[in-house]
Amino acid sequence: LMRLYGPLTSLSNVHVDVMTALVSFDRVFEVLDLEPMVAERPDARAVPDGPASVEFDDVRFRYPAASEVSLASLEAVARPDTGPSQEVLRGITFTARPGEMIALVGPSGAGKTTITSLVSRLYDADEGAVRINGLDVREATLDSIRDTVGVVMQDAHLFHDTIGANLAYARPGATEEEIWEALRAAQIADLVEGLPEGLQTVVGDRGYRLSGGEKQRLALARLLLKAPRVVVLDEATAHLDSESEVAVQQALKIALAGRTSLVIAHRLSTIREADQILVVQDGRVVERGRHEELLARGAVYAELYRTQFSSEP
Ligand code: ADP
Ligand code: MG
Repeated sequence: LMRLYGPLTSLSNVHVDVMTALVSFDRVFEVLDLEPMVAERPDARAVPDGPASVEFDDVRFRYPAASEVSLASLEAVARPDTGPSQEVLRGITFTARPGEMIALVGPSGAGKTTITSLVSRLYDADEGAVRINGLDVREATLDSIRDTVGVVMQDAHLFHDTIGANLAYARPGATEEEIWEALRAAQIADLVEGLPEGLQTVVGDRGYRLSGGEKQRLALARLLLKAPRVVVLDEATAHLDSESEVAVQQALKIALAGRTSLVIAHRLSTIREADQILVVQDGRVVERGRHEELLARGAVYAELYRTQFSSEP
């Protein structure tokens, strides 16, 4: 019995430790390309080539119970009103056609981040399906999902390393010219050029201090270098000075051009450009359409606009 239980016990401890270490899950996942907590099927296939569509087909999802995952129990402690086994997505259906930008808006806790984490297959749907180019992501190889989907979360994390190394991480083997090209497109080349050590400048906690807007642009440069077909992006809420704001908007526009994207949008300028706005509330899409349509409707989106966005330029 000891021999049987010994390994099992230590394995489950490892699982708990790993999960505890992932409390800032989104950020860690973004930069470290950790394996999602899902398995690859033996007969898994690559995501089909070509411009990518993303389809949610009546997706339902609840987070694993607290006893299974320590991360969920931490959330439950932090938010006692939300049982960890409560259904978070209650039948989400939409299609992002190739090249389209979908903006997700809605109150905090509505399920926006959860929707995006099912695209990169951080978790699997309990019912319904998420498909990229027609292939159920549960039947796709994890490598091909990682190549297809680029994720930029809020508060972009940078390694304590050089700017060059932080970028090359997105595409090992990238040439210096490719790195500069990405920096230019992300509106951050001038800043890097002006640094005494250029690409060799060490950034991160103990290195050169970048502003919030600069970090965001470096994250977008990293995305451009990776050049994924699908982009999942949680737009930063941090207030930027207006110069940074303009540069970030420009970088965002370039980074999303021609790609299929799902953006958790906090800025009116982004929302206005979206091909479809999905208003998410309590795990459901309660309204969908373009900015003007939804405003004219005078319902949930119009109210959200009035309280959150209308003060923006
Ligand atoms: P939004 O991004 O719209 O603010 P989320 O997708 O982050 O909403 O959260 C939706 C619901 O899921 C919330 O009730 C939240 O407490 C819960 N939730 C989010 N992440 C986890 C998690 N890792 N474990 C358990 N519950 C979670
Ligand atoms: Mg969120």
